[in-house]
Amino acid sequence: MIEMNKIENGPKLLAVPMLDFSREFAEIRDEVLAAIASVCESQRFILGPEVGRFEEAAAAACGVPFAIGCASGTDALWLSLAALKIGPGDAVITTPFSFFATVSSILRCGAKPILADIDEKTFNLSSEATRDVVKNASGHKHVVGVMPVHLYGQCADMNAFTALANEQGLKVIEDAAQAFGASWEGVRAGALGDAAAFSFYPTKNLSAFGDAGMVTTKDSVTSERASMLRAHGMRRRYFHDEVGWNSRLDTLQAAVLEVKLRRVEAGNARRRELAELYNQRFTSDGLAGATTADGVVLPFTDPRAEHVFHQYVIRAPRRDALREYLSGLSIGSEVYYPQPLHVQESLRFLGYKQGDFPVSERAAAEVLALPMYPELRVEELDSVVEAIRRFYA
Ligand SMILES: *Cc1c(COP(=O)(O)O)cnc(C)c1O
Repeated sequence: MIEMNKIENGPKLLAVPMLDFSREFAEIRDEVLAAIASVCESQRFILGPEVGRFEEAAAAACGVPFAIGCASGTDALWLSLAALKIGPGDAVITTPFSFFATVSSILRCGAKPILADIDEKTFNLSSEATRDVVKNASGHKHVVGVMPVHLYGQCADMNAFTALANEQGLKVIEDAAQAFGASWEGVRAGALGDAAAFSFYPTKNLSAFGDAGMVTTKDSVTSERASMLRAHGMRRRYFHDEVGWNSRLDTLQAAVLEVKLRRVEAGNARRRELAELYNQRFTSDGLAGATTADGVVLPFTDPRAEHVFHQYVIRAPRRDALREYLSGLSIGSEVYYPQPLHVQESLRFLGYKQGDFPVSERAAAEVLALPMYPELRVEELDSVVEAIRRFYA
């Protein structure tokens, strides 16, 4: 099973896949296949009882009264915005250093995305930069919301965003797609804003066997609107109060998620242990530095955050060459994200240019995500660090 790479100097290194969900599947196979079979037997494929059960269990896990399952994380972002009545004429501030859906969902609901740079250490939307943008934007555009992203599994500075939102009358929409189970000062992601969006895309730390997502909120009106909008704006069958969409959570996916939700807490805890091991190895090998001028910069965890390490991301000197070297050894790594959103071709009409968000641009050039999943073996982690040591040696 274990593949070896032949290295001329030093011990052989293990090949390490960036992700290997077959290991998890082997552990949950019987349980998950039984859950799927049960949906097939019942033939209740659309909003079957598994959906409501999963929503209730997920809401409890996030510490909110309401969770609304939907078709994807992207739809969850759109539904959150639409349920909060954000639309044409409105503007929402968010980060250029995220997955594309963060910005495209704002456009999809008819509003305008306004970008602000990120914090150097956490890679999350900077509250100071957001405050500056709010100041400069007042008057010409109606800023109604802010969408911090809990990037890599660490919550953005929700004290600062909540204070700013209260002061300016803004809605806070959490993009919690990477942060199921994360918390900020003991409050779970999903319970920190007016609404939050989760993704259960197969690579996320809580994942389905296909596309799936969820909106959470503490507000009954927002919850009711989100569930109405995910089903064609119907409160009563075939009476359409608003133009919604079809974005229901598939019952088969809900059945899978019900099984996996029971394991996510343990999975997140294991991710934290593995992150700590990576940190220790990098430090004891003398590879860690305060900046990329003196080494690999390890992930920073804010003491107020409980990180779930959806990704373990370092800043690496000569990042692209390192990535190529690792790939030559069959060691997986990934760049999230190589091109910030403000310079994406499709978003040129927003009027931004290279140089507008230097912290995001530098992050895009330096970040490298290393293999991280609960089933990652310690020998594999050791091989990743050893390979990186050899690259810089
Ligand atoms: C994955 C992700 C999304 C989109 O979720 P999908 O389920 O793929 O639609 C949105 N935002 C962030 C930050 C993500 O990582």
